[in-house]
Amino acid sequence: MGLGVGHGCQNQGFSKKKVHKVSDKLFDEQVYLRTGRKLDLHAAEDVINIPAKYSSLFGNEGEKLSLTLKDIAKFVSYHLLRNEESGSVNLDKRGRFDHNKSTLVKNKLGQSPIIDELISEIIEQLGLERRQLWPDAKKAAICLTHDVDSLDGTSYLCLRKGWWYSKFLQNCCELRFAQAATWRSKIKRWKQLREDPIFAIDKWMEVEDKLGFRSTFFFFGLKHSLSREGRRYSYKDQKVRDATRRLCKSGWEIGLHGAYYRHLDLDYLKEQKQRLEDAAGNEITGVRQHFLRVRFPKSWDLYHRAGFKYSSNMGWSGGFNGFRAGTCFPNHPLHENGFCEIPFQLMDLPIIKNPETYFNLFLDYVTKVKSVGGCMVIDFHQEYFDESESPGVNKTYRMILDYLSGDKELWIKPLREVHNHFSSLLQG
Ligand SMILES: [Zn+2]
Repeated sequence: MGLGVGHGCQNQGFSKKKVHKVSDKLFDEQVYLRTGRKLDLHAAEDVINIPAKYSSLFGNEGEKLSLTLKDIAKFVSYHLLRNEESGSVNLDKRGRFDHNKSTLVKNKLGQSPIIDELISEIIEQLGLERRQLWPDAKKAAICLTHDVDSLDGTSYLCLRKGWWYSKFLQNCCELRFAQAATWRSKIKRWKQLREDPIFAIDKWMEVEDKLGFRSTFFFFGLKHSLSREGRRYSYKDQKVRDATRRLCKSGWEIGLHGAYYRHLDLDYLKEQKQRLEDAAGNEITGVRQHFLRVRFPKSWDLYHRAGFKYSSNMGWSGGFNGFRAGTCFPNHPLHENGFCEIPFQLMDLPIIKNPETYFNLFLDYVTKVKSVGGCMVIDFHQEYFDESESPGVNKTYRMILDYLSGDKELWIKPLREVHNHFSSLLQG
């Protein structure tokens, strides 16, 4: 009998006190996904030797550990369910779980799929054979996604120009001439514009279509274009209806970008879903919340009750990237209802100052995702296509697409198809 997980693990990683709801089923599911074998955890007396690499996860810095399979199952579920995020403590200014409070981040383990690597280690020690997960003998999957926070740059333009002038004047008065010059060139650029630099759906489609890729676009399902959500767009806008239908017709996927406010209101989620379905003329099965404003596990339950099949919120925003739950595999966090979370790892920024650095981060993640055979999800915003408005973003995305077009080991599909494939693997 090895060390029990609850013993000797008093650090921020995992302690019995903190566990609100932990089931063995998630671990069981993940092993089955990779091997096609069901483990009998209740009967399992197997003791697994945990390499020192994982020791800080268990609060035993630099030491080797031996744990029973049952204890490891609880530990893995604890991380995948994000148990440490439940409750109303450790929230940031937007009411989300604070990135810097994450155990994995604090232990410098947030930049790799550490839980997947641990599961691979266990599978190896148990002598189980891994099965081929992805179609066409591919090593890993990639999903390209786009949040559509803004759809056009022309609405309320006079008001916005007035705001830009006021910022220019304010910076001049405060002798901040560099910032003032930025505002002045923005005003000048927008005076000379012949076409809207923000509406870029067709341009995204064009660059992806050239390489035969399809992606997922997350649209809001808001009633009004101007509300406390900010200057967005209404589902009734003809531009929204045309764009979403064009995307669906050509093989792209539409998902709901859930509103920031009332993010835990079930009826409101249902309304947004219905509105977007009305606009797109298609069923919506996926969701990602604006600003990733979610609360695990409650959000998963609400999404399921609102009729969604999967969400892709398990990542970080605001310039933080990485493996929030230490995984790059889809999973059923609320096992009993079949709702699926597909984690994501990389999100853009309004300005990417160094595209090479960002691209190298992408490559690093691809290598790590391939090594465990998982699925990597990346998110680039619809409104950042124009290089003058969002320097570096388009360039970075094209570097990523160029790389993907040459890597034949990757299965590149919209989220919906990864979800369908994942479901069929578990049923099969
Ligand atoms: Zn958003």
